[in-house]
Amino acid sequence: MKKHNFSAGPCILPQEVLLKASEAVVDFNNSGLSLIEISHRSKPFIEVMDTATALALELLGLEGKGYKALFLQGGASTQFLMTAYNLLETKAGYLNTGTWAAKSLKEAKLFGEVVEVASSKDANYNYIPKGYSVPSDLDYFHCTSNNTIFGTQIKDFPTSPVPMVCDMSSDIFSRTLDFSKFDLIYAGAQKNMGPAGTTLVVIKEDLLGKVTRAIPSMLDYKNFIEKDSMFNTPPVFAVYTSMLTLQWLKDLGGIAAIEKENEKKAKLIYSEIDLNPLFKGFAATEDRSTMNATFNLVDEKLKDTFDEMAKEAGMNGINGHRSVGGYRASMYNALPYTSVAALVEVMSELERKA
Ligand code: PLP
Repeated sequence: MKKHNFSAGPCILPQEVLLKASEAVVDFNNSGLSLIEISHRSKPFIEVMDTATALALELLGLEGKGYKALFLQGGASTQFLMTAYNLLETKAGYLNTGTWAAKSLKEAKLFGEVVEVASSKDANYNYIPKGYSVPSDLDYFHCTSNNTIFGTQIKDFPTSPVPMVCDMSSDIFSRTLDFSKFDLIYAGAQKNMGPAGTTLVVIKEDLLGKVTRAIPSMLDYKNFIEKDSMFNTPPVFAVYTSMLTLQWLKDLGGIAAIEKENEKKAKLIYSEIDLNPLFKGFAATEDRSTMNATFNLVDEKLKDTFDEMAKEAGMNGINGHRSVGGYRASMYNALPYTSVAALVEVMSELERKA
């Protein structure tokens, strides 16, 4: 039985993408070679890279606006330091909204002065700080659009007087935004795009070249821009699969179309959380993420029963992160509405039984 995959990442990918990717692993475009055997310098792979980067910019509405899309390695975690390495000359500002945001802030401190512009650590990150302003004497301002662990999501981004850098690992391509507000966006592939192993970086080219420090070649964005993400051997399978997912999303109607689906899924689970007296939501209502819904049982004594019922109904990956406990239903782009309906049915069934 195919599972309802609510995993926070690596997570569900569209079935047709998995099928096409698996065919390419055996025989890429009837070439008699596997995708992972061909040279990344060959024409067919260069076409894959070009298509993937073009699709990323097109879906984000950023083509022709001075941005370059890159597929890099090292996960979003490497971007925590790479952004600072390339952009932090004296002072940067960070919005501390969760574990990943705090990690990015910690890395940046290795390169210069870092101001915590606002934080929600005081309440175990269950809300998004508001009412702060971004100082104008910063090299850049860094935020995390969606806090995967805590289930909060920035709905209104600040107007920033300095370049804005955003970790969009867990909600990229899931909702319409004015992406041109951001000067650098990065996202690990393994939630809304493809397998782990590549990280999408979308960067405004005029952001670079402003720091005086020497940057090691593999951490210098300029090298990857110059070589079209082929400064060294790229992760061909992860890039190819990401390209297939981006094509899938474009064929569906792009971000605006998937956003509607994501909103329907989120509405369904949050209404159950609010109406079912056995559950309570973790995140502040107005900051609830459409990607990761975090919730707890009111009475922990029901845990074993609920877990058993969820397992029997084919649920995968609904356990909450250890820093929040309870449950987390991650509802990335490829998760069907029917999976959320199935989970909601288990939650209602528990209420009927209890
Ligand atoms: N940033 C966010 C918002 C994440 O959710 C994650 C992982 O889940 C990361 C960064 C770290 O990503 P990676 O494992 O690709 O380094």
